[in-house]
Amino acid sequence: MKSWTLLACLALPLAAHAAPDHRVQVAQGGVARWAGMEAKACGFLGKRYPAVDGDCYYPVDFQLKPGVHEIALYDTDGRQHLGWMTVEKVDFPEVEITLPDDTYINLSEDNAKRHREERARVVKALKVDADEPQFSLPLAKPVKQLPQSENDFASRRLFNGTHKSTHTGRDAPVSVGSKLGSVADGTVILAEDQFFTGNAVYVDHGGGLVSMFFHLSELSVATGDTVKRGQAIGKVGSSGRSTGPHMHLGIRWMNARIDPYLLLEDPAKLPSVADSAAEEQAKIDQAQRSEPPEGDQQ
Ligand SMILES: [Zn+2]
Repeated sequence: MKSWTLLACLALPLAAHAAPDHRVQVAQGGVARWAGMEAKACGFLGKRYPAVDGDCYYPVDFQLKPGVHEIALYDTDGRQHLGWMTVEKVDFPEVEITLPDDTYINLSEDNAKRHREERARVVKALKVDADEPQFSLPLAKPVKQLPQSENDFASRRLFNGTHKSTHTGRDAPVSVGSKLGSVADGTVILAEDQFFTGNAVYVDHGGGLVSMFFHLSELSVATGDTVKRGQAIGKVGSSGRSTGPHMHLGIRWMNARIDPYLLLEDPAKLPSVADSAAEEQAKIDQAQRSEPPEGDQQ
């Protein structure tokens, strides 16, 4: 009986056998979804974390190695279902930026020390628990009329022809002084004026999800505050290393740096385990064209 099963498997095309129904393809910096089976928890990269409204999401850091990764879904009876995720490499754009002077390029000793201390506080704040999610998807837009962002997520930036830096969020031309609302309920884990990011706010939304806004003109919240979805957390500005007023939004989920705009759209648009190959490819292509969230083209 056993050898018969083995023979039957070998007779199948290898791809069909190695890749069962539970499979999904996603781009670096993207998020995959496993819906249609009531989930309690999800597993990815050796971590287990809660489902969001009964669905599993697998956030893929923009630097995660391309290739095949195992994903898991734990249903409400505690049964484990396994799947495969194929991470596709993305060629992120390269951007040159000119700053008027080298304050943010060749750091003075004081500024270098300040940056090291601030960096340490950020690293500490980002160590959040993947406890009960306080958010649903899509997240709330920070402003009602969210303009299109440049295709600048994970772009490699070259400042004044010398200094290299990777942009881990998205910039959008929201006018100076506009109030920015929290994308979901949560707790402010850090709100302070920092050297590079200017006035910055980091909010822990539970479930391992953290949102961040940089370069604000003023902060409306303090570290430790609890915030509600849509509550003003600050105003758009150009503090820190910035070439002009704009909204910078970043998202970390289970420590993966992902394209924040993906979570502002209907989650059904994310590549999903149940999708056909053609549907998956269409969603990946759509995400890479970086269209604005639905409802903004008025
Ligand atoms: Zn930015």
